[in-house]
Formats: sequence, C-alpha cells, structure tokens
Amino acid sequence: MGPTIRNTIRTIVRRAAIAGGLEVAGGLSRAGLMAGARGQGAIFTLHHVRPKLVRAFDPNGHLEITPEFLDATLTTLKRDGNRFVALEQLPDALAAGGGPIACFTLDDGYRNNIEHALPVFERHQVPFTVFVTGGFIDRTHTLWWETLADLLATNETMRFDFGRGVETLQTRAAAEKQAAFHRVAAFLHGRDEATAIALLNAAAIEHGIDPLAITERLTLDETGLRRLIESPLASLGAHTISHRSVARLSDADARREIRESAERIEAITGRRPLTFAYPYGDAPAVSRRDHRIVADLGFTLAVTTQPGTLAARGHSRLHALPRISLNGHFQRARYVSALASGIPFRLQRRAL
Ligand SMILES: [Zn+2]
Repeated sequence: MGPTIRNTIRTIVRRAAIAGGLEVAGGLSRAGLMAGARGQGAIFTLHHVRPKLVRAFDPNGHLEITPEFLDATLTTLKRDGNRFVALEQLPDALAAGGGPIACFTLDDGYRNNIEHALPVFERHQVPFTVFVTGGFIDRTHTLWWETLADLLATNETMRFDFGRGVETLQTRAAAEKQAAFHRVAAFLHGRDEATAIALLNAAAIEHGIDPLAITERLTLDETGLRRLIESPLASLGAHTISHRSVARLSDADARREIRESAERIEAITGRRPLTFAYPYGDAPAVSRRDHRIVADLGFTLAVTTQPGTLAARGHSRLHALPRISLNGHFQRARYVSALASGIPFRLQRRAL
C-alpha cells in the first residue's frame, strides 16, 4: 500500500471518527447532558456557499457548503431557540444575556455569497458579516489554496522548487494530487509566506493557470461588495490585505495589514469596520501580540477559527473569539445542533 493510498484511508477514517463524535455529542445534548458547554451561543464560519459540484479531487471541499444546508442550518438553529445577532452587536448581546446567540460570518468575500447565501439569509431575516481581504477586492493578491487546487486538477505532473532545485511531482491520480497539495501547503506555512506564494503563482502560470484570474472569478470586487451591502442584513469586516498569517508578520507589517484593511472597507462603506477575522485563524496564525494590535486599532472584536462556543457572560476574550466552522464534509442539520451544543469541543479537550 503506497503512502498516498494510506493518506486517503486516513482521511476517510478521520472523517468517520468526527461524524461519530458529532453523533455522540448530539445524543448527549438531546439527553440534557453537559448543558453548560453551550455557553452564550456561537459564531459560525462559512466560506463558499454554492451548489455542490462533485469532483474527484476537491482539497478545499471543507470550505464549501450548499445553499440547502445553509437553509437547514438556520431552520435548525431557530428551532433550537437561538437568537440571530449581527456580529457587531455581539458585545451588547453578550452583556445583556438571555437565550443562546448565533452569529454568522463568511470569510474571503466570494461572489457566491451574493448569489447563493444572501437569498437564504434574506429568507430567514438573519444578519451576517463578510470578512473581505483588500488584495482580493483590488485583484492584487491571490488565493493560494484555489490556485494550487486548479493547478493540480488540470495537470498530471507539477514542477516546483521546494528549495532544493526543481522537482517533478506525479499528480495524475486524485491521491497523488492530494499528497502534492499537502506538501505545497506545508511549504507555504513553513516559509516566508509572500515569497512562497510568489513561487506558487509563477509555477501556476508555467502550468497554464492564471492566479489573478482566479481571484477575479471567485471574489467580489468593490462593485460587488457595494451591491452586497445594499442588503441591511449584510456587513463587512476586515481580513487584512494579503491574507497571510498575521502572527508570522513583523510588528510593523501586522499593524499595517490590519489598519489598511480597515481603511479599504471604510472607503466602500463610509465607516470604519468594527470587526476583524485573522486569516487562517488557527493557533499558529494568531498571537497575543495580534490581539493587542487589533484592540489598539479600534476593532471592538476579532474572531479566530479556533473551535468553541461563546463563554459565559464576562468571560469572552473579545479579540480572540472562537468560531464553529460549517464543514462541507459534514452537511447534516443534526450536526449543527451537536456543534452548537459545544459538547464536541469539550470532548475534544478532554481527549487531548
Ligand atoms: Zn480567509
């Protein structure tokens, strides 16, 4: 059995284990156990919202849900007694107390957010915040994970220099493409991110993929964002200019990226955004220094992608709020109830 097949099996087993854990959490929640894990509610993270396109190689499948699943999610959360609150209103809602809160956020500003997510939010009258990246709005920066997915989907080999000369990776089978995706992703997270992305963009062009055309095809520009915020339910939050890990930037670069992204949004909406999302948002991408910069620049709150529910009143760290990601591989309404119960994160912490 080759390493790529082993990785495929590992992925399947991991997903089955997560699904099993969600079923267990759902059962505990329905039995009225661990009720405290729910805290004051949750902030949900979405990315793409669009009809499912079945692809043999889909490394970003977790970042994509269908409009039907979004509809089922909102119906379920409403049935479970959640109050939908705009993210900017969250500090007030937390202070006021009351039933569980649900906030909705969508990262990166994809075009499908207008086409497929907005109608669902409007049908349910649920407010939402879209975190937009200055460099995507102005088509000066690229989405490496999309570039890499397109490159691998359309090429049977990939030439890339990981720092020891150009290598040719075999990328014919889906498992080989997946292995190459992981290797390049690890390279990007381990090096100077801007340099690594520039290398990937150059490789993409050499393989017939135009990275900036992907930015144009997938994300909203200023005109699109102006159309989005015509809906009183939609607001914009900041998400840097280049979409790099803030924690890995120098003090000056981190501050500049965050400040300029707020200014870019202000130029569209006419007012300074109060909310910020750390790119990637996982533990290596966000540091305590970054919490301080964001607070210092006047944002009232900032969100990570570290999983969890909102802590009991007075205990939330407003510049490092956890979020629950709606994962494209787990699109079941009962999983949403299980996640919102907070139990999966408690169980995970106990297991570690
Ligand atoms: Zn993002």
